[in-house]
Amino acid sequence: MYTGATKNLAVIGYPIAHSLSPVIQNTALTGAGLDYAYIAIPVAPADLPAAVAGFRAMNFRGWNVTIPHKSAIIPLLDEIEPAAAALGAVNTVINNDGHLIGTNTDVIGFIEPLKARLGESGLEGKNAVLMGAGGAARAVLWALLSADIKNITIAVRTPAKAEPLAEEFRRLDKEHFSGTAEITVVDWTGEEYPVALSACDLLINATPLGMAPHTEAAPPVDWQKLKAEAFCYDIIYTPAVTAFLSQAAEHGHATLNGEEMLVGQARAALEKWTGCSGDKEAMLKALRSALEK
Ligand code: NAP
Repeated sequence: MYTGATKNLAVIGYPIAHSLSPVIQNTALTGAGLDYAYIAIPVAPADLPAAVAGFRAMNFRGWNVTIPHKSAIIPLLDEIEPAAAALGAVNTVINNDGHLIGTNTDVIGFIEPLKARLGESGLEGKNAVLMGAGGAARAVLWALLSADIKNITIAVRTPAKAEPLAEEFRRLDKEHFSGTAEITVVDWTGEEYPVALSACDLLINATPLGMAPHTEAAPPVDWQKLKAEAFCYDIIYTPAVTAFLSQAAEHGHATLNGEEMLVGQARAALEKWTGCSGDKEAMLKALRSALEK
């Protein structure tokens, strides 16, 4: 039961009613017996500065941030952790007695389930093909560089839009990591794409292709080119098995969907606020049950 001593957490976005974060986080909080409440609050873009001032005034312990506030919130905070600063996106704020720290837990949410399957050093020296170059791809790129990947091919329908992203991450690799990763952009209808697929160890879908309600859609993959041992990761979690993952499994590839990434970013945020990351299996179960509804 909530009391006067209950501490407050939230997620802000606009709109926010669709957010699954309250279900995932309150499952973890209740399971761990932590005296916190986590609510979803719609905040219109023009109200963001007032909302941040309000959280500070009301001493919320922290909050998650989603579209459209991930970049806009940065100048309103006191400190930004390196990954969030480099990505230009904050998804979690920690309030340490009025000192607001912005961080990004999408990176850890993406990489931890992958390391659990491929091993802690499983990406070192490997070749990845990343389909998509939007907001989610930025966290994926940072995570892959942090894991010492050798080569990343960004495959998209509009290479001219992805090239500045590649250039930015070549620079970030030099500033923050080994600086040795090769990052190239290819047109996924062009001749270089099958060449990249034939060398690929990790194939990632970071486009919305296949996401409900357009579940029949899939990014283009020539499955004959892909090595049998290539791992296929779709960061979409609705549906649990996208057309891309279903094709990958039919061709004998190991697969992973985006459920653990979503729960992983939530657990990393919870750990920063409370020191406890919550019961992963219970959080996944709550997510799946909410998605079924
Ligand atoms: P985004 O910023 O809209 O970027 C999407 C990328 O996909 C862009 O490169 C875009 O290319 C491409 N794309 C979009 N529609 C396309 C189409 N019809 N055909 C070909 N390419 C298309 O999206 P995002 O925020 O990065 O999110 C991408 C996906 O990741 C979403 O499905 C989202 O649900 C998922 N996601 C999952 C998690 C998780 O926790 N599991 C977290 C974040 C995001 P153009 O520039 O050419 O349009």
